[in-house]
Amino acid sequence: MAGATHIGRVRSTNQDSILTNVAQQLFIVADGMGGHAGGEIASSLAVQAIDAYVNEQKEIFSSTPERTHPDAHVANTLGNAINFASTKIYERALEEPSLRGMGTTATVVKIIDNYAYIAHVGDSRCYLLRRDFIYQVTNDHSLVSEQVRAGILTKEEAELHHLRNVITRSVGYQEEEDVDTTSLALEDDDRLLLCSDGLHGKVTDKEISAHLKTQATLAVPSLIDLANSHGGEDNISVVVIAVTMRHRGEA
Ligand code: CA
Repeated sequence: MAGATHIGRVRSTNQDSILTNVAQQLFIVADGMGGHAGGEIASSLAVQAIDAYVNEQKEIFSSTPERTHPDAHVANTLGNAINFASTKIYERALEEPSLRGMGTTATVVKIIDNYAYIAHVGDSRCYLLRRDFIYQVTNDHSLVSEQVRAGILTKEEAELHHLRNVITRSVGYQEEEDVDTTSLALEDDDRLLLCSDGLHGKVTDKEISAHLKTQATLAVPSLIDLANSHGGEDNISVVVIAVTMRHRGEA
């Protein structure tokens, strides 16, 4: 497992936040937005609140012999963790008028036994690399992605669209948001990648796939370098989880 966040080459602040909590097998990428430090505050509040909520609900997330996967209750509770964060961010913005309207994406992975539970809002992504094939596990909640899914834009048009950064759901902009949840039976040697659009907007799925095959500790800096060499206009966050069935989530 390895993760890093980088300011990029153009921005003066890093509004992304990440969490790599190996003990809890909890991994998060959050990409904040909002003026007057709102973006940084929203993404860091999200990461802290989700971590605290999962810790508080540890019994629901614990590995027990009687648990069978996928467990809808686990997936829903992980979704609730994002909405717990949403309320915290929303309330903070009510206290400080300069922070009104701040919000963040949140892509969250919690591994229990050999199962990954994923909860997600916004346009950060979770990818799975399995036996040389790369899959995008999460759907972007963005204007252009919705138009791709509706058949209005092609994937190629969406990648160059001037509104490609407009997201349709965010954490904290309102008290609650619709959260997508899903789960995935993991296999030996799978790689999971969480990333902000500073990576996936600059690096192709094919390039991501090539780098993910290396060790997690090498993949993270090489993916960040690649996004920077392609312009680095945005903050870049990358978390890579290498799955081994004997040592879950270790590199
Ligand atoms: Ca971003």
